[in-house]
Amino acid sequence: MPTFYIEQFGCRATQADGAVLERQLLDRGCTSASEAAAADIVVVNTCTVTASADAQARDAIRKLHAANPAIRVIVTGCYAQRAPEELAVLPGVSWVVGNSHKPQIPALIEAISEMSSASNLNGFFPAAALVPSAMSLSPLPAKTLSGDILEQTVLLATPVLGGEGSHTRPTLKIQDGCNSRCSYCVIPFVRGRSRSLPPESVIQEIRNLSEAGYQEIVLSGINLGTYGRDLSLRVEFEDLLRRILHETSIVRLRISSIEPLDVTQDLVELFASTDRLAQHFHIPLQSGSDRILAAMHRWYRAEHYARRVELIRERLPHAAIGADVITGFPGETEDEHAATLAFIESLPFTYLHVFSYSKRPGTKAATLSNPVPGAIIKRRARELRSLGEKKAAAFRQSQIGRTLRLLTLRSDRQGPSSATPALSTNYLKVRVRGTHPSNHWLDVYISNEEGNSLLGDVAQAGWPYASKMTCASA
Ligand code: SF4
Repeated sequence: MPTFYIEQFGCRATQADGAVLERQLLDRGCTSASEAAAADIVVVNTCTVTASADAQARDAIRKLHAANPAIRVIVTGCYAQRAPEELAVLPGVSWVVGNSHKPQIPALIEAISEMSSASNLNGFFPAAALVPSAMSLSPLPAKTLSGDILEQTVLLATPVLGGEGSHTRPTLKIQDGCNSRCSYCVIPFVRGRSRSLPPESVIQEIRNLSEAGYQEIVLSGINLGTYGRDLSLRVEFEDLLRRILHETSIVRLRISSIEPLDVTQDLVELFASTDRLAQHFHIPLQSGSDRILAAMHRWYRAEHYARRVELIRERLPHAAIGADVITGFPGETEDEHAATLAFIESLPFTYLHVFSYSKRPGTKAATLSNPVPGAIIKRRARELRSLGEKKAAAFRQSQIGRTLRLLTLRSDRQGPSSATPALSTNYLKVRVRGTHPSNHWLDVYISNEEGNSLLGDVAQAGWPYASKMTCASA
């Protein structure tokens, strides 16, 4: 069986797809290579959320081929679904497999390996009927498997154990796809309608991870708040969280992101009732201007969003509250940009993720006239990032003098270090003085700020600042 390497791009959902593929390939007896250069087959798992994500994927493929022209490259993921023909012509690409056909990659790799010396692969592949008729199954140029059957792809449970911070905090994708149609967003076209992992599978995966020693798990999805609405026995996201708390012993559960109108009173009360749910809400905002929100086909207005944030702040005064913002949407005026800045200033955000608008083919926004010039988008993005940094710094300052329960993370630094990285429930990075094993809970007195992270010392028993948190220690 061949050796393989998966080159990952994109969001947590794409990383989760890569983890599923890796598990499937290992189950079939393939061997994972430690680097692309050592592999027979490289799977490039792409993202297409922005034009620069597309460019990164093309660049990576060209570099792979230049480094070793003998490597077979299979390109998959969201870019492969959106524009397979753009990828099929790149040098070294053997196959382009869209998200719709991703589950067939293991069979494809097996067949490539068995027939590597054969002149063609005709007839071997049961999915041939799914290939658009214009596509050829001859070996060159690259063959393409992509089509409009995204809803039929089964959502498989495989936690992502690698990647930044994931060595100690695995991510479990429990939902994929999206039924909304935000005018700038290509995701529904490349991931299909919303699909959920059945609650029993979610519970089992979390039990497995918990029994394996993991202390914190991140639940992810494209639109997590819609979890369970597609299941024959409909399940609400809050109810899934209750079941996880009740039926597993996981110490801390974090949710990756949730749309504003899914932040209900019920959800906030649930988070306020236990320290096993991380006090962290990432809520896409996109704009503080109602006219731009309407043009984006977002279904809330600034005042609705503000109410949800205030609801969180009233019940959870120290929770992390983050937002995504897009700047430079077509037709965005200086006043509308100023309205976004003022709106963000008025709310207790603890961090911001700022994105420059990127025209995505096939979306409604791609047909809009009046684009914002690139230099103006850059300047607006700078202003928003600077505001985000100011808010993040103020939040860090507000935590100095508190004692926080932290989960130690694996340090990527080699050799002895004077401090250990750790993460708080409210998503603050803290460097804890001294060397501590990873994946352990520490009560840490936050004494200072150091760059973009906080500095702290393990709290001594009897300290006046001793934590009142009840989270079980590892
Ligand atoms: S909610 Fe909107 S932005 Fe988010 S994935 Fe769905 S369509 Fe895209």
